[in-house]
Amino acid sequence: MQKYQDRTRLAELFDQEVAAYIGKHPASAKAHESAQESLLNGVPMLWMAKWPGPFPIYVDSAKGAHFTDLDGNEFTDFCLGDTGAMSGHAPNATVKAVQQQIAKGATFMLPTTDAAANGQILAERFGVPKWQFTLSATDANRHLIRFARQVTGRQKIAVHDFCYHGSVDETFAVLDDDGKTISRPNNIGKPTELSNTTVSLPFNDLKAAEEAFAAGDVALLLIEPGLTNIGIVLPEPGYLESLQELCKKYGVLFALDETHTLSAGIGGVTGRDQLKPDAVVLGKTIGGGVPVGALGLTADLASRIANSLELESIDVGGVGGTLAGNALSMAAVRATLEEVLTDKNFKQMEELAIIWERNTQEIIDEYKLGWQVSRIGCRGEYSFRAEAPLTGAEAHAAEDFELGQFLQLHAINSGILMTPFHNMILISPATTAEDVEKHRLHFHAAVKLLFG
Ligand code: PMP
Repeated sequence: MQKYQDRTRLAELFDQEVAAYIGKHPASAKAHESAQESLLNGVPMLWMAKWPGPFPIYVDSAKGAHFTDLDGNEFTDFCLGDTGAMSGHAPNATVKAVQQQIAKGATFMLPTTDAAANGQILAERFGVPKWQFTLSATDANRHLIRFARQVTGRQKIAVHDFCYHGSVDETFAVLDDDGKTISRPNNIGKPTELSNTTVSLPFNDLKAAEEAFAAGDVALLLIEPGLTNIGIVLPEPGYLESLQELCKKYGVLFALDETHTLSAGIGGVTGRDQLKPDAVVLGKTIGGGVPVGALGLTADLASRIANSLELESIDVGGVGGTLAGNALSMAAVRATLEEVLTDKNFKQMEELAIIWERNTQEIIDEYKLGWQVSRIGCRGEYSFRAEAPLTGAEAHAAEDFELGQFLQLHAINSGILMTPFHNMILISPATTAEDVEKHRLHFHAAVKLLFG
C-alpha cells in the first residue's frame, strides 16, 4: 500500500474544491451560520460537523435517489442517510402508510397489529422467529447484550476489531500492538476500561476467537457478517460458519448485526448464506426513513430470556424505551418491507452496484492506482490498498483522511453525495443507470486531477 504522495498538490486541490463549494452553497452557509447560536458546533448531532467543507449541505427535499439543497443544487444520493434511506427517500408506500397512521395516532404504549405482521415477515427472511422492536439499531444491540448477560450469567461480549454497532459502550474496543483489548482511541467519556466488558477479535481469525471463548466468560459474539464501518472487510470462505460452530461449542450466543449488511438481500447475509444465528439485529432502512430498530431471536433464546424475567419487574432494568414498537414506526416498517425492500428490488439494486463496482475498478486499473473495490450486495466501497483487507486493522491502516475528504468534496461539487467518512455507495430501488454513470464521470475526473 502506498499513500498518496504529493500532499501539497492534494491540499491545493482540496482548497479549490472548498472554494467551488462555498460558491455553490450560499443558503446552506447562511443556515449554518444562524445554527451556531442554538446548536452545539452548529449541528443537530456532532458528527455532522465532519462533512468536508466549512459547513454541511442543508437539504430542502428528497425523493427516491435524489435530493435538492436549499440553494437549488440537485444531487444523486449514494449516501442514502448511511442506510437509513436505502429504500430510497420517501418511498410512496411508506409515505402513504405513515400519513394514514399518524392521522390515527402515533404512539400508545400498546401494540398495533403491524408489529406482529412485521415479526412474521422478518422471521421468514432471517429464519429467527421471535422479534422485538426499538427505535434504533443501537438500542437493539444494547438490549441484546443485556439479554445475553442475563441468560448466560457471563459478563463479557466479543466483537471484531474496528467494528461499529452504534453508540454501544461495550463495542468501542480495539486491539493494541500486543493483541490486548483496549478502548478505541477517542471513545468519548468511556464508562470503564473496555477490557472489563469486551474481547476484541481480529476479523477472519478463528484461532483468536477460540482462545477468547475458551476463557468461559464470553456471553455473546456480536458481529457484522462483513465489516462495513472501516471500509468493507469480507469474510474468507467458511469463516462465519466456523465462528457459528465455535459459538455453539463454547456456549457463546452468536449474533449478526445486519443493519448495514441487509444490502446483501431481503434476508441480509443470514438469508443469503443460510446462517443460523441466535440473534439478528436490524435498523435504519427497514422503516423507510422512520426511526426503528429490530432484534430477532431463536425460539430457544427467546424462551431463555422469558424464563429469566419476572413480569412485575420486566420494565426495570436496561431494556426498554417508551417509544419502542410505536404504531407509526410499525406501520412504516410494514409498508417498507412489503412493498419497497422486495426481492425484485434488491436484485435490481445489486445489478447496478455490480456496474458501479466494474466502472470504479476500471478507472483504478487505468491509472494503476493500486486501490481496490469491495461490495456486499448493493453496498460498494473503494479502498486505498491493492488487496481486499482481511481485517479491520488492515482496512484502518489504508485510510487517508485528507484524500477521502477531497474525493467526497469533489463528488459533492459534481452533484453526488457519497456515504460520509468513507468512499462508500449504496444503491436504492430508485437509483438509475444514469446515476451510476454520473459517479463514473466524477470518479474519473477526480482521479485525473490527482494522478493525471
Ligand atoms: N449497527 C451497525 C452495523 C451500524 O453500522 C450502525 C450505524 N452505522 C448501527 C448498528 C447503529 O445504527 P443507529 O445509529 O441507527 O442506531
